[in-house]
Amino acid sequence: LKKKAGAWSKEASEVNLAAVLGAGIMGGGVAYQSALKGTPILMKDINQDGIALGLKEAKKLLSKRVEKGKMDAGKMADVLNSITPTLNYGDFKNVDLVVEAVVENPKVKDAVLRETEEAVREDTILTSNTSTISIDKLAANLKRPENFCGMHFFNPVHMMPLVEVIRGEKTSDRAIATTVAYAKAMGKTPIVVNDCPGFLVNRVLFPYFGGFIGLVRDGADFQKVDKVMEKFGWPMGPAYLLDVVGMDTGKHAGEVMAEGFPDRMKHEGTTAIDVMFDNNRYGQKNDVGFYKYE
Ligand code: NAD
Repeated sequence: LKKKAGAWSKEASEVNLAAVLGAGIMGGGVAYQSALKGTPILMKDINQDGIALGLKEAKKLLSKRVEKGKMDAGKMADVLNSITPTLNYGDFKNVDLVVEAVVENPKVKDAVLRETEEAVREDTILTSNTSTISIDKLAANLKRPENFCGMHFFNPVHMMPLVEVIRGEKTSDRAIATTVAYAKAMGKTPIVVNDCPGFLVNRVLFPYFGGFIGLVRDGADFQKVDKVMEKFGWPMGPAYLLDVVGMDTGKHAGEVMAEGFPDRMKHEGTTAIDVMFDNNRYGQKNDVGFYKYE
């Protein structure tokens, strides 16, 4: 972190309607959390299956709240109705802030962000939930980079309080202030950080995954490593955490980290993550990763 983060103004624009691109693990969670806390949200994906998964996740979380007596069925219906699933950019002119949460692939993100910029108003704030890709890199092809910053949630979105708000070279104070205010409205704790691969949390997390990869390569049993880390006091071990994150996201993110910090985060040869990924063991998202899920 070379520069000091922090000097953003309090001139936040109102966010009365948000949108999330990608209805996967993260997009579904963002839609749920936004709707729950009172900001209606459009949820766009490229296919109906994606939309169905995002809605299913939101319904599951809301049903749990109803079961626990935290919400009545009427309120649950209201919250669900404030998530509008869509396959196109039809209503995006009314959107005040967009959270991009499509796959962790720079080319896909670049294309999606550019087409979104065409669909929204000139003052709409665009954010990316990328785990590792540089915000300046993603901003490079945008017409209005001043309206763009990172908004990095953690998984599962409804449980994890932290949101990294990432300031790019050209990001305006308004974009930062608006994103910080929206994160707070969602009940989250935003921190403003400067741009670099992995931002703050993943610069800590990926060397930890690297340690795990090395242990497995040296012959350690991944289940034992998980148990040890739990005894150490962490809520879950690295293999389980990779299953939660998703092996595809973990692999893509690991590659970006290795490119950004080759001296510290590059791994020679095939890693345990590569083996899982190559065998379609993506983790909880397809019910099998290091562990099997029902
Ligand atoms: P995911 O695979 O669960 O979901 C991605 C979704 O994006 C899919 O539903 C897919 O159909 C959709 N999609 C692909 N191309 C699209 C397009 N052009 N337009 C609209 N939708 C499109 O992935 P995820 O785990 O939710 O990750 C999404 C983003 O969030 C990634 O950038 C990832 O790095 C980041 N992230 C993930 C985690 C995590 O733990 N999984 C945590 C923080 C941030």
